[in-house]
Amino acid sequence: MSYDELYIKSVIRSIPDWPEPGVIFRDVTPVFKDPKAMRMVCDAFIQRYMNTDITHIACIDARGFILGSVVAYQLNLPMVLIRKKGKLPGDTLSQEYNLEYGTAAIEMQTDALQPVAEANVLVFDDLIATGGTVMAALSLINKLGGKVHEVASLIDLPDLMGSQKIQDSNVAVFSLLAYE
Ligand code: AMP
Repeated sequence: MSYDELYIKSVIRSIPDWPEPGVIFRDVTPVFKDPKAMRMVCDAFIQRYMNTDITHIACIDARGFILGSVVAYQLNLPMVLIRKKGKLPGDTLSQEYNLEYGTAAIEMQTDALQPVAEANVLVFDDLIATGGTVMAALSLINKLGGKVHEVASLIDLPDLMGSQKIQDSNVAVFSLLAYE
């Protein structure tokens, strides 16, 4: 089954003014509910990242877990979690980042990238908006001694300049879809 962008876009639901006025929420849950769309999306990532020297797939809470785990399973790679603050047990490293109003924090377990000496990490999320979450994730991976192969997302919102900000920090970004 070959990748069909129009089909995937027809499955993703756009919800205006949610969770607040002015935001168009791109709801990817219908992709999870549609095995054909799910397979197309995951297969596209699997094809892109097979035969690379990626050592870990780091998935961002929570929709990044769903796509990233399928890709990690198929590529036989370790999947590690980047979670919202307070969810991971054991020793963790925390990184704060700015939201439109206030701040948030994400965490990784300090041994997440062990035992590989030179981790080469694929960072996975469902959507890049302002890029704040991904930039915080990159900082955590950097502090844990890993380098980043690429940031992968199903959706990019290029008008918000997040993917540009990530690329300006010399990290590659790959998104299957863009919504202007
Ligand atoms: P950001 O840190 O601004 O790049 O936001 C990224 C996170 O917020 C992603 O993990 C998305 O799940 C979520 N998000 C932000 N904006 C939207 C949107 N318009 N539609 C759906 N999810 C969004």
